[in-house]
Amino acid sequence: MAPTTHIIGAGLAGLSCAVGLALAGWRMAVYEAATQAGGRCRSFHDPVLDRLIDNGNHILLSGNSSAFAYLEDIGAGGSLTGPDRAAFPFFDLQSNHRWTVRPGSILAPWWLFSGGVRRVPGARVFDYLQGLRLAWAGKDTTVAECLAGSGALYRRFWEPLAVAVLNTSAEEGSAALFRSVLRETLGRGEAACRLRIARTGLSESFIAPALVFLEQRGCPVRMNQRLRSLVFDNGRVSGLDFGAGKMNLATGDAVVLTVPPATAEGLVPGLVVPRASRAIVNGHFRLQQRYDKMFHLGLIGGIGQWLFVRGDIASVSVSAAGDLVESPVNTIAAGLWDEIARALGLGGASLPAYRIVKEKRATFAQIPAEVSRRPGVGTPWSNLFLAGDWTDTGLPATIEGAVRSGRAAAAAVRSLM
Ligand SMILES: Cc1cc2nc3c(=O)[nH]c(=O)nc-3n(C[C@H](O)[C@H](O)[C@H](O)COP(=O)(O)OP(=O)(O)OC[C@H]3O[C@@H](n4cnc5c(N)ncnc54)[C@H](O)[C@@H]3O)c2cc1C
Repeated sequence: MAPTTHIIGAGLAGLSCAVGLALAGWRMAVYEAATQAGGRCRSFHDPVLDRLIDNGNHILLSGNSSAFAYLEDIGAGGSLTGPDRAAFPFFDLQSNHRWTVRPGSILAPWWLFSGGVRRVPGARVFDYLQGLRLAWAGKDTTVAECLAGSGALYRRFWEPLAVAVLNTSAEEGSAALFRSVLRETLGRGEAACRLRIARTGLSESFIAPALVFLEQRGCPVRMNQRLRSLVFDNGRVSGLDFGAGKMNLATGDAVVLTVPPATAEGLVPGLVVPRASRAIVNGHFRLQQRYDKMFHLGLIGGIGQWLFVRGDIASVSVSAAGDLVESPVNTIAAGLWDEIARALGLGGASLPAYRIVKEKRATFAQIPAEVSRRPGVGTPWSNLFLAGDWTDTGLPATIEGAVRSGRAAAAAVRSLM
């Protein structure tokens, strides 16, 4: 029988690995501990709102090439939505200023001086030049060390962007990781900076079509299968233990672990992984009116950071939400709703039906010390590979990073033959 690859975890890293192997005609099986696939990227029907909502707003940019290739592979290429041109409208909750950043390429940076970030109120020409410091940032440098000198441009553009990308405060977030995203978006010009979100829901774009794709190719995805331990023998993994008896692996079989870092650390002796994490809080509110077109707004100077309106649901996200995540949901909801009502011009509209979703370990803390603990795809065991947004993809912990890690693991498995 042809060798089988056993993929542990059906988040985006596991699914993209499976899709990559299926496209190459490889035999594989996926094992997921939860009752549903998707991991940290999923949607669900919320009974209070009576609407489909995402666990959290997930933003992609059109320069996220691996994520878009994955969507094409699973037949979901048209399932995202967003503006035709790159545009980031902002609202400052303290000063009531509104402005829109229309990015171009950092390789041809005259947009900075004309219709681009120059529209950021209070930003000076000198502030734009501070952005160049990112190009030389070392691996221990933080975003704030590079950019905090750029005044209003920092507070109203660089900082909110970095917090969204790194889910870590700009004071401690890795400048090198932030740069890696800018290189693939701003570095490629306007067409790579168009914001995209799932038109209906994350599971409907990223997860359900992948499960159909795999099923059609005879690749099983088994839910409620929590890997308890790996059996090691002669420099390779020889068995998997799911708690109900051990499964012996055949010669040539491979294992790809795509579980969260703490779980991987418990399964693989001596594995060094990032340990600290950062939270994200999302608030979803049902509006009185329905909007025909999805739109988004960056919020400055309040609790909420990025607001999305899809149909009659307004969803606002708070990254690096260490303090907020410990607050009671009604307090969080009241604070976020006050800001949404102001941003959307809803006057004193009373708090509508809402759902607060707290993801305490949304991503690993993307600070220089933790970034240096990311392992690569290979391990000391010849048939054991790692994937996940926390592995060393060179990118932040994002959909793009997770998909890329899954593809890298699929390539490593294929190189065994
Ligand atoms: C609220 C929130 C907002 C986000 N916003 C964005 C955004 O705007 N843009 C963006 O690009 N990214 C965003 N992300 C990050 C993105 O969701 C992740 O990078 C991506 O989903 C990680 O995928 P993964 O497969 O690496 O990990 P996971 O999704 O964590 O998948 C791991 C899977 O392994 C399973 N598992 C765990 N233990 C076992 C075991 N022992 N046996 C079997 N299975 C196991 C888990 O149940 C899970 O399904 C956000 C994340 C969150 C939480």
